[in-house]
Amino acid sequence: MQVRVIGGGLAGCEAALQLASRGFEVELYEMRPNRMTPAHRDGSLAQLVCSNSLKGMEPTSAHGLLKRELRMLGSFLLQSADEARVPAGESLTVNREIFSRSVEKAIASAERIHLHREEVTSLDGDLPTIVAAGPLASDALADDIFAKLGGERLHFFDAIAPVIETDSIDMDHAFYMNRWEKGDSADFINCPLDKETYDEFVCRLREAESVEPRPFEKKELFEGCLPVEEMARRGENTLRFGPMRPVGLGLGNNGHKWYAVIQLRAENKEKTLFNMVGFQTRLHYGTQKEIFTLVPALKNARFARLGAMHRNTFIESPKLLDETLRLKSEVETAHHLPPTWFAGQITGAEGYTEAIATGWYAAWNLANTLLHGKTDELPPESCIRSLLHQLVSPNEDFQPMNFNFGLLPHKQDYKKKEKKKLLAEQEELAVREWIASRRPFAT
Ligand code: FAD
Repeated sequence: MQVRVIGGGLAGCEAALQLASRGFEVELYEMRPNRMTPAHRDGSLAQLVCSNSLKGMEPTSAHGLLKRELRMLGSFLLQSADEARVPAGESLTVNREIFSRSVEKAIASAERIHLHREEVTSLDGDLPTIVAAGPLASDALADDIFAKLGGERLHFFDAIAPVIETDSIDMDHAFYMNRWEKGDSADFINCPLDKETYDEFVCRLREAESVEPRPFEKKELFEGCLPVEEMARRGENTLRFGPMRPVGLGLGNNGHKWYAVIQLRAENKEKTLFNMVGFQTRLHYGTQKEIFTLVPALKNARFARLGAMHRNTFIESPKLLDETLRLKSEVETAHHLPPTWFAGQITGAEGYTEAIATGWYAAWNLANTLLHGKTDELPPESCIRSLLHQLVSPNEDFQPMNFNFGLLPHKQDYKKKEKKKLLAEQEELAVREWIASRRPFAT
């Protein structure tokens, strides 16, 4: 049976691999390198466009729990992430080139996946389809989606954090340490600022000129990914309580807590590049250099990449999708569309791991629908089902959403301290039972 997947990013590659492993012939369309997006660097599949971290691994963190669930469900992209892992405390941080190469190898060796380096410009077609064209879907496809599916074209801002060459960091003014000394090795470089430097830094950020948003971009900034200059404008101490918080990083030479600290995280295993954690920005390039080199450890920093800002696009999932990420039947019928699922950031599921998770789930439900004539939903206690429940619930002010503990169903009045542990146990039990009742699991 033949199916189509639009987009060779995180969601699309996971979906294609899942479908091929269940016997489908997959026509996978990726427009790069022929047509690039404003953020991707080249034609590689499953490219991580900004941070190289897939965030925490511990099941007591929301992202750790979602990852554990995806591992139980046999995610291919998490296997690739493990192969590409670089040391970074307890987070799953990867070398982005090795990660992409590993996914490309899996796609190339899956005989049932036929990769087309072509832009898809319309939802029309005969094959059951998963649309995973991402937040930077090409204009032609985005226009067709919005023309057919109606609703306002939705955007929010995302911004890329700068990357620094390691040998340009002045280690006389910086030190290696993970926050709270977690993990076996010290993987983060910390760049402290005293009060005077911090005040100057914040003042310059507040006054600095940013890239002027275009009229269609003048929407709210996405709260989970605020540019640093916006944070600085919100209050003098906002950065000190945010990405520059000094807690868990020991004491300065004067025996007192550091006043503020910028953390740098390794970009690659060789640790030749480090990115500024939480320092996404839309300042002009020259201004970024002027301000960031005020930090003593960064006074001679060479920037391998500077921060940038991009438009993101997502559909109105609450109005358009059911809980399996399929277009509502009346929408498919009205536009004579084949069975169509959406996956990845274009659904409003925000984040790398969430993109992989929605790719897995759309593929699972497409497979069940075509093979068995019915959908097969994960249990309500699972992370993925909880995230999707939130995405498709009625919401007049729909905005992208990361997975978080608040989305999991709370059966009892758990005490705050033990809540995460109990929710994680409840999720694990339900997902294990669900998998056990579906042997053999490969449908
Ligand atoms: P993508 O990985 O972008 O994949 C979509 C693919 O579809 C792309 O390869 C694209 O070339 C292709 N495509 C688009 N249109 C067409 C077409 N018409 N025909 C064929 N192919 C097409 N999340 C995080 O967790 N951490 C971050 O640091 C982070 N930073 C981000 C920075 C930016 C600038 C943006 C835009 C998003 C960021 N995100 C981040 C959010 C999100 O997690 C990523 O965008 C993630 O890659 C989404 O996965 P996806 O599979 O939905 O889309």
